Amino acid sequence: MAWYPGAEKMELQPESDEQPAITPTQVIFHSVAAPWTPRRMYEYWRDSTNLESHFGVGYDGGVGQFVGTGTRADANMGANRRADGSGAVSVETASDDASTDPWTDAQVGALIALGVWLHQRHGIPLRICPQWDAPGFGVHRMFPEWSDGGTACPGDARARQFREVVLPGIVAAAGGAPVPTPRGDSGPAGDSGPARYRVTINGLEYGYGAHGPQVREVGEALVRQGYGRHYASGPDEDWRDADTLNYQDFQRGLGYSGADADGVPGEGSLRRLLGRLPSPRRVSLAHVVTAARTDPGAEQGHQTYGGEVRIVEQALADEGYLEQRWVDGSLGTRTVQAYAAFQRSLGYAGEDANGVPGQRSLRTLGERRGFDVTD
Ligand SMILES: [Zn+2]
Repeated sequence: MAWYPGAEKMELQPESDEQPAITPTQVIFHSVAAPWTPRRMYEYWRDSTNLESHFGVGYDGGVGQFVGTGTRADANMGANRRADGSGAVSVETASDDASTDPWTDAQVGALIALGVWLHQRHGIPLRICPQWDAPGFGVHRMFPEWSDGGTACPGDARARQFREVVLPGIVAAAGGAPVPTPRGDSGPAGDSGPARYRVTINGLEYGYGAHGPQVREVGEALVRQGYGRHYASGPDEDWRDADTLNYQDFQRGLGYSGADADGVPGEGSLRRLLGRLPSPRRVSLAHVVTAARTDPGAEQGHQTYGGEVRIVEQALADEGYLEQRWVDGSLGTRTVQAYAAFQRSLGYAGEDANGVPGQRSLRTLGERRGFDVTD
């Protein structure tokens, strides 16, 4: 069990505790086919599938680690864990939806630094794997045994970068040469395509790869104001190039130019678009539990901590468990029933699905619908 000091630890359970040990002998690089941050990858594996990797690398070079390197991860089929106990360390990387774009300079720098650590920590030899079960470094597409019979992952551009830049960079750095410094401020498209970086405004992220209800709010406001022409389908909670291009049109409409009109929000343009700056939404578990124990027995429409209850109710409505007309700030019988249905959807039963929010279920709802949970 080893954790890379250059990564943010986001431990996946139960995988991390329950999957068998491996002796890492290989490193395999992937593209995740989404412009995700490591945090978003973690959420995806926690909530949606169990084909997790050990590491995730965002466009900005940020690294997350989800499983210790001495534990099996499940992204590489036959290489996850072989009969002799050896296995591959897998590394996912943010990419465009078709996995066609090259790694950013920041990603290249992060992969080199990670590769050096894996070489030093586990003795992974500084070479391309010559066979599917032989030690070394590789990309997912190299051997059919590493996937369900074959894959294009991580894409042509990155397969070439692996051979020409990443592995030579690991070799050079492990031999004492410096790891290239990530630029960190420009994406794969360089000067020729839409800007691909993120900013944080008032605690929320915007720009390529950002995720959450604030992204949808921006997209919907752009469409309302006539700046939706780059959407092939409507805006959603993932910020893609189309969002950047529409936002750029909006900025130009405000009279901005040059770097001020690169399609990534600033505080001024965001305020002009929305009339306000969105802020992270917070719900106290203790408050909504109090409301769930008070409101159903009180007179119709009684409110206890109505603002926070309304956030929870809207999330239940967005998940399809509550009719919109009952989003009223009163945690009454209908909301309790809706919350119980949500708890059952998570696999809870009996007292655990009694409609009174618990920490786990409320956090899950908040992560899906964009609010933070405090005690
Ligand atoms: Zn892959």
